[in-house]
Amino acid sequence: MRTVIEGAAIATVDAAGTEYAEGHLVVNGSHIESVGPGAAPDDLPADRRVDGRGCLLTPGFVNTHHHLYQWATRGFAQQSDLFNWLVELYPVWAGLDEDITRAAATAGLVRLARTGCTTAADHHYVFPSDGGDLLGATIDAAAEVGIRLHAVRGSMDRGTAAGGLPPDSLVEDTDTALAGTADAIDRWHDRTPESFVRIAVGPCSPFSVSAELMTGAADLARGAGVRLHTHLAETIEEEKQCLAEFGCTPVDYAERLGWTGADVWLAHGVHLSDDAIRTLGTTRTGVAHCPTSNARLGAGIAPVADLLAAGAPVGLGADGAASNEDGGLGIELRQAMYLARLRGGAGACDARRALWLATMGGAACLGRDAELGSLESGKLADVALWRLTGIEHAGIADPVAALVFGALPPLAMLLAGGRTVIEDDESSMVTESDVARALGTASARLARKAGITR
Ligand code: ZN
Repeated sequence: MRTVIEGAAIATVDAAGTEYAEGHLVVNGSHIESVGPGAAPDDLPADRRVDGRGCLLTPGFVNTHHHLYQWATRGFAQQSDLFNWLVELYPVWAGLDEDITRAAATAGLVRLARTGCTTAADHHYVFPSDGGDLLGATIDAAAEVGIRLHAVRGSMDRGTAAGGLPPDSLVEDTDTALAGTADAIDRWHDRTPESFVRIAVGPCSPFSVSAELMTGAADLARGAGVRLHTHLAETIEEEKQCLAEFGCTPVDYAERLGWTGADVWLAHGVHLSDDAIRTLGTTRTGVAHCPTSNARLGAGIAPVADLLAAGAPVGLGADGAASNEDGGLGIELRQAMYLARLRGGAGACDARRALWLATMGGAACLGRDAELGSLESGKLADVALWRLTGIEHAGIADPVAALVFGALPPLAMLLAGGRTVIEDDESSMVTESDVARALGTASARLARKAGITR
C-alpha cells in the first residue's frame, strides 16, 4: 500500500530542521519511502493520493507522560496542589476496575490521537487488589484506537503506615509490585523497531515508593533491557520532604538509587538546582515536561532550556487528565513555549523548538529517536496532516507558527505506522460518541463506588 501526500507545507524536524513550503511525502506500508520538495514523480504508482494543499505535514507527536485511567476522574480537586490533590483522589482511584480503565484509556487515547499524538507513554501505578488486569485493559484500548503505547507498569509500596502519602489499602507489597512488573514485560514488551507496545518500569514517586522498590525496579529493568520512568522534582513540597527524610534533593536521591542514565526518563523535573541539571545532562537522563499539569497544580516552571543546554533529552507530556482536563497533546506545544517565556523571556523558546520537543525530544525520551520523531526516508510513517485553511489560521504565512501560536488545527489525517487513525478530524478506528458515552458512565460509576453523589 503506497500513499502519496502532495501540496502540503512540510516540517520534517530532521537534524537540519529541513522544511518545504510545498512538498511531498511517500508512505510505503508502515514506513516513509521518501520526502522532498514539490510534487512526487508523476509515474510513481500509488494506491492513494492525498491533496495536502493548505495543510502542514509534521511528524506524529510523542506523549512522554500520562495516566490514562485518570480520564475517569476529571474535574476533581480543582484548587489543590499536588499532595492535597492526590489525597482527595487516591480513595476514588481505589475503585478502578478493568471496565472503567478501558473506558478511560480509550477516551484518553482518542483525545491524544485527535491532537496529533501517534505514540503515548502511559504511567499506570494504581492496582487495587480486586481491580483485575488494568494494564491489559489499557493495552487493549491502544490497539483499538490505533496508536503506539509505551505502557509503564507503575507501582506504590509505601502507604501512610510507612510514612508515604497513599492509603495503605492502595499500595502493593514490594515483591508483588516487582513480580507484576516482570510479568508485564514477559507478556507484552515488543522490542522490534515497528513495535506498537513497549513496557517500561515505573515506581511512582519517592513519597509513595520505598528505596527497596526503586533499586529492585532499576535492576529488573536493566536486566530485561527496558526503560525506567518515575515522577521526580515536581513540587517544592516534594523537595522539602526529600531533604528532611533522606538528607538530599530528589535528583541526588534518584542518582543514589541508580535512577539516572540514558535509559531513564523522569516526569516533571521542575525544581532542579544547577547541579541537578548538570547531573541529568551528563547522564543523558530524559525529562517529560508537562506544562499544563504543572500550571494546574501550581507546581512551577521547569527549566527546559537549561536542561536541553546541559544535554538532557526533553519531551512533552499531557500528564493525567485529572490534572489536565484537556488531555490532548497539541496544546502542550504552546503551553511549553509560553511557560518557557514566562521563565526566560520572549527568546527562550520558539515554535520550532516546541515542535521539536513534541516530536524528536519525546522520541529520544522513549529511546525511539532512530525510528520515530521526524519525517525522513526509512523512518516509521507516523504522520500528522494539519488543515490550516480555517479562520483560526488563514493569513498566518508561517505554517509552524500557525500550528503552535494559533488554535490547534483540525487534522486532515493522522497515520500511525502508515495506517489511518484520524481522517477529517474524526477517529477512523472507533465511534467517538460511543467512547464519550462509555466514559461518562464509567466516571459516574467510579464516583458512586467512592460514595460521591453528583
Ligand atoms: Zn504524572
